[in-house]
Amino acid sequence: LLLDEYGYSWDKAWDITTKTFAYTNHTIMAEALEKWSVELFKPLLPRIYSIIEEINKRFCQWVIDQGKDYTLVETAIIYDNQIRMANLSIVGSHNVNGVSKLHSDILVDSTFRAFHELYPTKFGNVTNGIAHRRWLGQANPELAEYLEDLIGDDFVKDLSKIDKLNKYAKDKKVVEKLQEIKKVKKEQLAKYIQETTGITVNPDSIFDVQVKRLHEYKRQLLNALHIVYLYREIKYNGLRPVPRTFIFAAKASSGYQMAKNIIKFIHSISQLIESDELVRDYIKVVFLPDYKVTLAEKIIPAADISEQISQAGKEASGTGNMKLMLNGALTLGTLDGANVEIHEAVGDDNIFIFGLGTPEVDELNRHGYKPWEYYNSSARIKDTLDFIRTMTVGGMNFSFIVDYLLTQDSYMCLADFESYVAAQELVAKTYQDKEKWGQMSLINTANAGIFSADRSVEEYAKDIWNIKKVK
Ligand SMILES: *Cc1c(COP(=O)(O)O)cnc(C)c1O
Repeated sequence: LLLDEYGYSWDKAWDITTKTFAYTNHTIMAEALEKWSVELFKPLLPRIYSIIEEINKRFCQWVIDQGKDYTLVETAIIYDNQIRMANLSIVGSHNVNGVSKLHSDILVDSTFRAFHELYPTKFGNVTNGIAHRRWLGQANPELAEYLEDLIGDDFVKDLSKIDKLNKYAKDKKVVEKLQEIKKVKKEQLAKYIQETTGITVNPDSIFDVQVKRLHEYKRQLLNALHIVYLYREIKYNGLRPVPRTFIFAAKASSGYQMAKNIIKFIHSISQLIESDELVRDYIKVVFLPDYKVTLAEKIIPAADISEQISQAGKEASGTGNMKLMLNGALTLGTLDGANVEIHEAVGDDNIFIFGLGTPEVDELNRHGYKPWEYYNSSARIKDTLDFIRTMTVGGMNFSFIVDYLLTQDSYMCLADFESYVAAQELVAKTYQDKEKWGQMSLINTANAGIFSADRSVEEYAKDIWNIKKVK
């Protein structure tokens, strides 16, 4: 447009372009860093292609002039007959940001390392946020109204003010009132679950929630493995755990076979438990259909535990983690995405962290992940996987899940399994101390102020868009 319609020179058009665009990277999963084949692109968009070629030519020359031509294998926009959209976005923008501290560090240290060497001042971070007027005010009016009575309503416009709740952390009356509200939200969800699935759940059980898109990196399968482990322990080894309701909701994209297999597996575990008179008194699995914002608004206010168990380094930020924290759920998570900042905000004592961190995952990838070693060295893993091979539900066998975990799982569920089970045992133990749990829950709500989208948008306006307030 600038060149052909408005007749600007290349230099002027490029200056306007780079001053206009800023690039926010939302994920480092390879399928999102698009690469388009020149063969496909060029005949469809010949003029755009010729402009990208010119951008690439000038950029590569500039890199050579900097004496950094060794970075070109990584940084060239057109390479190996492919157009690399992320590279084009970095070169064509005045700013590049990730969406959590950890993710922005990974961009600089790893994904876009060579670009950071070329443009050290272009890179920054803006941690994601959530619309708290939706996720608190609209989704949980009972909690919002109580908070307004207790600490005033200024948190509605400025969520940082919710930290006034912290001074009630040791006030038993306040903690009890918050727990009453949680119970009301759990009863409302129990009713919805009954109506939509026919499953009766106990509102006094722990509501353990994992709601998010179905993806292997998010590791719904790790959650499922723990449930099978509990099933086996209850049925054959006399375990009588604190009652728990595992609540899932997730959509798989239409062509994602493994995601659909995992949904089927979780539904089958649910059926297996429901048909067992002993086990169903202790654990239940509910998979709610048609995950979307309106369903999330029903589930999130009722959660006790927020499952944020992605393989470290894979979840750019997550925002479900923030919605659940704001509604008083305790995070059970890996040090991934914004979980790291939730951990900083609430401290070690008000979160359940487990599993490998990003450096350990990288190290294990360098040495080669060997799932069989975990199978052979952990009786818990061996017994759980062997049991899954014997599982037949509705005529379907699930050996393929075991084969996947032992030969294909690049997200290393087995490497984190023992640590996850230990963290889940601590969750159950902690839940039995109602007062302590209530206090931890309060501290989560009170320290969620930094996760408002208002704060995110202000950072974009100030640090990247350079928008001045008009008085
Ligand atoms: C918040 C939200 C998400 C993102 O959840 P994550 O746990 O951060 O992946 C996805 N879908 C819906 C409907 C949501 O409300």
